[in-house]
Parts: sequence; structure tokens; C-alpha cells
Amino acid sequence: MSPQVLDSVLDAVGNTPLIRLDRIAKREGLECNLLGKLEYTSAGGSVKDRIAKRMIEVAEQEGKLVPGQSTVIEATSGNTGIGLAMACAVKGYSVIITMPKKMSLEKEAALRALNAEVIRTPNEAAWDSPESHIGVALRLQKGIPGSVILDQYRNMNNPLAHELTTAPEIIEAVTSTPPTLGHPSSGKVDVFVAGAGTGGTVSGVAKGIKKAHNPDCIVVGVDPVGSALALPASLNETGKGTSYAVEGIGYDFTPEVLTREPDMINAWVKTNDTDAFAAVKSLMRHEGMLVGGSSGSALAGGLAWLRSESGREIAQTPGKNVVILLPDGLRNYIGKDWFLDIALRQEPSPLAKRIAEVLGRS
Ligand code: PMP
Repeated sequence: MSPQVLDSVLDAVGNTPLIRLDRIAKREGLECNLLGKLEYTSAGGSVKDRIAKRMIEVAEQEGKLVPGQSTVIEATSGNTGIGLAMACAVKGYSVIITMPKKMSLEKEAALRALNAEVIRTPNEAAWDSPESHIGVALRLQKGIPGSVILDQYRNMNNPLAHELTTAPEIIEAVTSTPPTLGHPSSGKVDVFVAGAGTGGTVSGVAKGIKKAHNPDCIVVGVDPVGSALALPASLNETGKGTSYAVEGIGYDFTPEVLTREPDMINAWVKTNDTDAFAAVKSLMRHEGMLVGGSSGSALAGGLAWLRSESGREIAQTPGKNVVILLPDGLRNYIGKDWFLDIALRQEPSPLAKRIAEVLGRS
């Protein structure tokens, strides 16, 4: 698209690049194409901008939101909140975001910068307790006239936003890039991998690809150890209920948007923090991508599936296109220990040692 003047920041939501992860693919010994859908280039910094924009616009069309009067309340792990607060800043709604304590201070700061009220809730509160981020949002809605919960866990505009935007962008990029000698291509999206929080991304993109492009696309859902989203449920037995540091994926209940489309996901992979953060480091060091923790989970899960019996053949077939969704960026996690470990607490490199020698510093 040629450059144009946009009406508001909301016109800069989505339209994210699909980028070859060639260096990682080579290190992993893969013959297939490994492609990363880089969502942090969306205006609010994550894949969730898309659903925030759509849920707000549809609620306006349905008359549920009245500019200058309504208050938007949403329970979120932060990114949906940032997308909503961005839209509400442009459109003139008040916003209240309820968010578990575990989620980063950086997300809270971005939310407050966008003029949202932020209420933190206990991590250990069960989703259906009055103390959870979902429970507190419901209590606030009852007490605040003119307030609306758009409810990303149930609102089918969540997966629909991905069916109508994320999936077509991926299909267009893959089908319009001609194969070359160095990069053969099946011309199809053969595998799609994404982590699941609400499940809107994985199920919505899956539906968009399977309906409009390739019914045989294999969709792999990624779920952290300690969460209960993966199927068969026996996958969730090991490490049941343990906590994990990656933000935005995994839940102790299966959101309705995910249960409505049970057949969209062909396989589930469990991931742990160690592998996820190692994959983040790899994306930063080898691909130059400043991604967040759940991007590492998606890559680690995708690689695990490609190494498994089900994925091995695709992994070794030149031209097969494997797309990994990378949901957000480093901005959300600058102060988190796992990120500081990658950025600041590494063994000095040979080059750093040489610099110290040259400058006479020990
Ligand atoms: N990663 C991050 C960082 C997120 O904020 C979210 C949203 N909770 C996801 C992944 C998962 O997206 P979805 O809710 O569409 O499953």
C-alpha cells in the first residue's frame, strides 16, 4: 500500500509483516520455511489491538457505546487493555482495566499513560471468584452506570477480528511471494502456530485460513505448563496449577471463544518458561526481533511440534510454510527479571573482554 495520511492511530492497527526466520531455521536444521508474524509493529504494540478495535467499533454500531458517556471495563492480561485504552483515547470513552498482579508494570504504565484506571487482582484468585480480574470487572460494571464489558472471553468479535484481518494478511503474504531457488514455497500456509490466552488468535486465524485458503492447514495451539487449555486434557496433568512467568497465555478455565471452535486446533503443545525465554533470546540475537515472552513460547512450541513425530516430515520438506505468531514486543517487559537476564546479566562476550582490555577497564 502506498503511504497515506491516516485518520487516527486506529488505522495503524494490524497490517503487520510476515518475516522469514531463516537464521533460526538453519540453526534448527529445518528445511521448511519458518515465518514470524511480527505483531509488535501494530500501533498499540500487540496482536490484541485488532480485537480491541473491532469490539469497540461493533459495540458502537450496535448502540452499546455512546461517545462521551460510556465507560469501557475489561479484564485482561494487559494487551487487550492497551488496545482498548488506545481506541478509547481516540474516541473519548473512559476505561477501567482489571489485571492480575503478575502482569508487568510496563503494561500498567502504558495503560495509565492512555488515561485508563487500572485495578490489580490476586494471581491466585480462581477465574470465577469475585476477587479475580473477571470478578472485579463484573462488580464494577454493576456499580458504574453506563459501563460496558466487551468481554473478550465470550465476544465472537475477538476471533472474528483475526479471521478477517490476521488470517488474510498471512494468506496474502504467503500466496503473493513467488518461490525462488533459495526459498521454494508450496504457495500455501501449511502450518500455523500460536499461543492461547482467550484463544481468539489461534481459533480465529485457524478459521480464516481453513475456510478461505487451505482446509488442510495444521494449526498448533501452544499452552504453558500449569495452564488448563490444551487438549487432550491429560496434557495438562504434569505441573497442574504451577505458576509461570510468561504473560498473556494460559488460563485455569477454557474461554468460550475457544470452546465454540473445538475443531479448529489440530494439535496442542505444552511449553515452559525456560524454553520460552531461550526462544525469545534466539529471536533477539539471531533475528533482531525485540519480542515478548509469549513470542518465545510460540516459537518454542512450534519447534517442539516440528521435532515431534507429527511434524518431522513437514520440518524436512523444502517449501512447506510454517507461520509462528509473535504476539507482542519487549516494551512490555523491560524491567522483568527474565528480560534483564537476557539483556544485562550475560557472561561478557569475547568482544566485551577485548573492549575492556583496550580501554584498560576490568
Ligand atoms: N500473548 C500475549 C502477550 C497476549 O497478551 C495474549 C492475549 N492474552 C496472547 C498471547 C494470546 O492471545 P489470545 O487471547 O488471542 O489467545
